[in-house]
Amino acid sequence: MVDQTLKTTVVDGLALAQDIRKQLAEEVGRYAAAGKRVPCLAVVLVGDDPASASYIKGKQRACSRVGMEAIERRLPASASEQDVLLVVEELNFNDAVDGILVQLPLPKGISANQIAAAIDPAKDVDALHPMTAGRLLLGTATLTACTPLGVIEILDHYEIEMQGANAVVIGRSNIVGKPVSLLLQRRDATVTMCHSKTRNLQEICQQADILVAAVGVPRLVKSDWIKPGAAVIDVGVSNIDGDLVGDVDTEGVMGIARIVTPHRRGVGPMTITMLLRNTLTAYRARTGE
Ligand code: NAD
Repeated sequence: MVDQTLKTTVVDGLALAQDIRKQLAEEVGRYAAAGKRVPCLAVVLVGDDPASASYIKGKQRACSRVGMEAIERRLPASASEQDVLLVVEELNFNDAVDGILVQLPLPKGISANQIAAAIDPAKDVDALHPMTAGRLLLGTATLTACTPLGVIEILDHYEIEMQGANAVVIGRSNIVGKPVSLLLQRRDATVTMCHSKTRNLQEICQQADILVAAVGVPRLVKSDWIKPGAAVIDVGVSNIDGDLVGDVDTEGVMGIARIVTPHRRGVGPMTITMLLRNTLTAYRARTGE
């Protein structure tokens, strides 16, 4: 039942991202002012997928806006796995590079897992190396997947109590669902992970104090799935005839949820911001700054 007295806060992920980027820019500025090398992110693009090209441009632009360096390695769509591995190796040994990101998806015939496993874990800012994943599991990670980090930042910023909360995560991918579940568990939430084979998804979601949807099914989560007062984080993005649509019926949850992330200016800006933060973290760990 809709509690008309409950005012739902629409998360301003862009404003939060800008605040964090300002702090990052100040920290990077201090290194530059002291005559030190600034953090550097290397992005690798294989092929000419326009969406991937635009994503890496966005990441490079974000780097330069906070004063970090960004370098790019482009390979043709005809590149072999060995060609990509050689580029990764060159970047691993390049002392001036702190973070390495290989833009996904990769062309057919190139294993994303093999490439991720070749990245120096100290430079693994996208957090896809098996060692990085293992460290997250053990609670010793310094670098963590960017979108999950952004989700936790949002929950913290909006003062959502995680300790003891029932958190439901829909989606079990390596890049979002699994790491966000582990991060929530580390913050003492009781976490239920759901996926495409979960039975009674609606009933499980109705128990959630915190609901994270990372599926990619447009408006899967309906208003009557939401526990009144829940924090609803919509990670999903689907392109429907050029329109971006989230996993949550955002309009429908107004007046029910305590907070909800919009599918634009929600989680997205936080993801790139956490990539910048990871690059700074890797820089500090590598340089001892
Ligand atoms: P994925 O395809 O790897 O995983 C999707 C998950 O959803 C799977 O675990 C699957 O079991 C589950 N699933 C599929 N259909 C389901 C259903 N009907 N009911 C319950 N679970 C179901 O995707 P991903 O890489 O984790 O990304 C998820 C979504 O988040 C996508 O829309 C992606 O575009 C978006 N995304 C957004 C950001 C961002 O910054 N905003 C970052 C990463 C991913």
